[in-house]
Parts: sequence; C-alpha cells; structure tokens
Amino acid sequence: MKKFYWVDELNRMSREEIRRYQEKKLPKQLKYCYDNSEFYRQKFDDAGAAPEDINTIDDLRQLPVFMVKDDERKSAEASLEKYGHPFGLHLCAPVEDIYLTGTTSGTTGTPTFSYTFTEKDMDFLGPQIANRLALAAVGKGDRVAFFFALGIYATTMTLWGLRHLGALPIDIDARAGTELFLKFMDLTRPTYLACTPSLAEYLIDKTPERLNKEVRDFKLKGLLNTGEIGIAIPGIKEKLESAYGCRAYDYWAPCGNAPAISCDSDEYCGLHAIAPDLCTSFDDLVDPITKKPVESDIDGAIGEMVHTNLQREACPAVKYAYGDIVQIFTTECPGCGFKGKRTNIIGRADDMLIVKGVNVYPAAIKDVVAGFVPDVTGEMRIVLDAPLPRVVPPLKLKIEHGREIGHSDLTALASKITTALHDQIKIRPEIQFVAPGTLPKETRKTPIFEKKYEDA
Ligand SMILES: [Zn+2]
Repeated sequence: MKKFYWVDELNRMSREEIRRYQEKKLPKQLKYCYDNSEFYRQKFDDAGAAPEDINTIDDLRQLPVFMVKDDERKSAEASLEKYGHPFGLHLCAPVEDIYLTGTTSGTTGTPTFSYTFTEKDMDFLGPQIANRLALAAVGKGDRVAFFFALGIYATTMTLWGLRHLGALPIDIDARAGTELFLKFMDLTRPTYLACTPSLAEYLIDKTPERLNKEVRDFKLKGLLNTGEIGIAIPGIKEKLESAYGCRAYDYWAPCGNAPAISCDSDEYCGLHAIAPDLCTSFDDLVDPITKKPVESDIDGAIGEMVHTNLQREACPAVKYAYGDIVQIFTTECPGCGFKGKRTNIIGRADDMLIVKGVNVYPAAIKDVVAGFVPDVTGEMRIVLDAPLPRVVPPLKLKIEHGREIGHSDLTALASKITTALHDQIKIRPEIQFVAPGTLPKETRKTPIFEKKYEDA
C-alpha cells in the first residue's frame, strides 16, 4: 500500500477513523492552550465555552473564530509591551523554550512570528515536513537549492524536513539576485530547486542569458514551488515541467499548519492533506466575510481555512482564520489514489474583490486568462482605483498579449477573454493589452494588483 502519512497507522485508517484519531487529540490540546495562554483563556471565556466542551470536529466548527491576522499582530504588540517578546499572548510555552522561529515575509505590515516552535514541536513537525518532501521523491543525497527572500522567512522550517531526509539544503537569500544564484546553481549542481513558481518561470529566460545553457541542463529531479499560486494555474505546470524536464510540485504550510503537497501526476490534482494528525485545518472552513461556518466535508466546498492545532506547544493556532481561501476536494485523487482531502488555494481573503455583489478571487481571473496562452503571455495585473474589496464595475485588467499576435487581432481577443470571464466568473472586465515582457516580474512574489489609488 502506498504510504502518504508519516504516522504509519493513519495509512491503514478510513476517513472516519482518521477523524476519530484527530478527535482524541483535540480536547487535550485545547485544554493545554486554555491553561497556558491568557489570550486563549479569554477567547474561550468570551465564547462561553470550556475546552472540555469541545470533543469533536463538529463542536470545534461551532466555536467562533478566535484570531485573524490583525489579532495576531495585536497579540504580538501586547506581549512585546508586557513581556518583552514578539511571540504574542497566545504563546503557550515558556519563552526560553522557543527553538525555531520564522515570520511571514513582512511585505505587508509588521511581520508576525507565526512560525514559532519549541524543540518538541520540531521533533513532531520535522518528520511530517520530511514526509511531505519524500512524496516529491526527495531523499538522502539530494541537494536542494533553496531560493527565497529572507533567511528568517516562513519557509525556514522546510529546511528541517530536508535535513531529516538527509538532503542538503543550499540556502541562498533571493536578495542576492539572479546572477549570484545562477552561479551557485552551476557550482553546487542541486537535484531540486525550491522557489516561488514565478521565479522558476523567470529563470527559464534568465539562465540562457547568464549561463549560456537552458534550465533543462540543470538536470533537476523536481521543482518545489511555494509562496504563491502557480502550478495550479492551467498552463504553468506544463510550462515549467517541459522547460525544466522534471516534475513541478507545489507545497504549503500556512503558519506551520495544514502541510500539503501536490502529487506526481501530469494533471494538477491539488494540495494533498498529508498530516491530519497535526491540525484540523482542512475540516474547518468559514465564510471570509461573515466568518460563519461553511460546510467543509462536501466535494467542491469553498471557504476560508481556519487552523486549529492538534499538537503544538509554542504558538498553537486555535480557530485562527489566517486568510487563505481554499476549495476542498473529497474524492479519491485521480493522479495518485490519495483518499484524504485535497485542496486548491483560491486566494487570500484580503485579495478578494466584490464586483456587483459577487466574490471574485484574482487567481480565478488569472486562471481564465492563462487559458488564452499563447495569445497572451499569462502575465497580468488587476488595476484598482480604490482599496479592496469593493470594485466599481468594470473591473480593469492589464494583460500582456502574446509575441505572435498582431495588433489587429487584439479587439477580437479582448472580446473572447471577456466572454470567458463572464461565463466562468460572472465579470465583464475592461481589458487593456500591453506588450509582452512589460509587466515587471519580481524574484519574490509577483504582485497581481496595480494600485492606482496609491500613486495618486
Ligand atoms: Zn494525487
């Protein structure tokens, strides 16, 4: 039998048995959070609930959301003020027991240390992260070029997984720039490349310019992408796989939870929830605006993921709506036979647009536009005249047209794209075409919005 889960007994369990396994761990963890954090004690008390009342996933779903990003920030400010550390009042372990910390990238607002762990946490999480990478066939002796911005960035914990497997991370700060990075690629001969999908795409053109060879000549065994929606967008996975001559995977673990990875399949089948013993994130969705529970056990369910840890000491999440909007799939994976939940990331709650009362996610727009490659390059921006989420129609899109298409064909192309967007996501945008290569690509996360109101 194929093994997907690190804890071996889970591989032999039905979905119902896995849920009971989660429910055995849940009350103990909630009691621990209540006993060890003034933040969580207050939240439970405000909700009129005691941790011992919450014994099932269904009970947990009925609890209100305890934390959103802004609450985490405030909790961090409060602990900095009161105790002189930035880990928040939701820190449940003694501060001197913290063993590893990582933040969000800090590109928007003050970074929060959501990726903070004790040594025991990493002893538990490290093998899970390793197992996830093993599903992408990473193993002993592999060298993994690890190219992200900021050493302290959230992806740091992935290095623990690599080390656990006996693989060697070649960790290069993305701020070093492409030239230096490619030099290291050439010198260290890695077998895997971990970076954002947009950077992997960018390197396809840059490598011949700088190294006089193609990315295919790196002879990689796999691409490990994270940090933004990439290979889930039609066309991107094929583009990367054919250019690099290897499988492209994407992996994910928002605030150290919900570890998931896509599978070894030509078709993209979503992120596979390979660690149900770690958290209940795939089983607890809410509406991104009202924060009311959304049915999350049906195939195709869409909502904002709410994280609750089942085993974590340092900064465990309890009912944390972290802002990721996902679509859940409950059917067996057609690519690899995985029977657990799978998910597609649809977007961030704070990226959501409301156009004529309809919730629209940028990734969904990008998906539709990407369907028109090679008439378009796939690069685009959503032009905003005012802050999100409400957009006064028409929604404005700036789209790079393809290299081969003539100017006289652009009107017809705009009308085809508009029709497709209207059929699939009920918007009729105003499209402005720009020449291929004119929208800047960044080595970190390529922005999807062009915020006109910020230039004014
Ligand atoms: Zn699969």
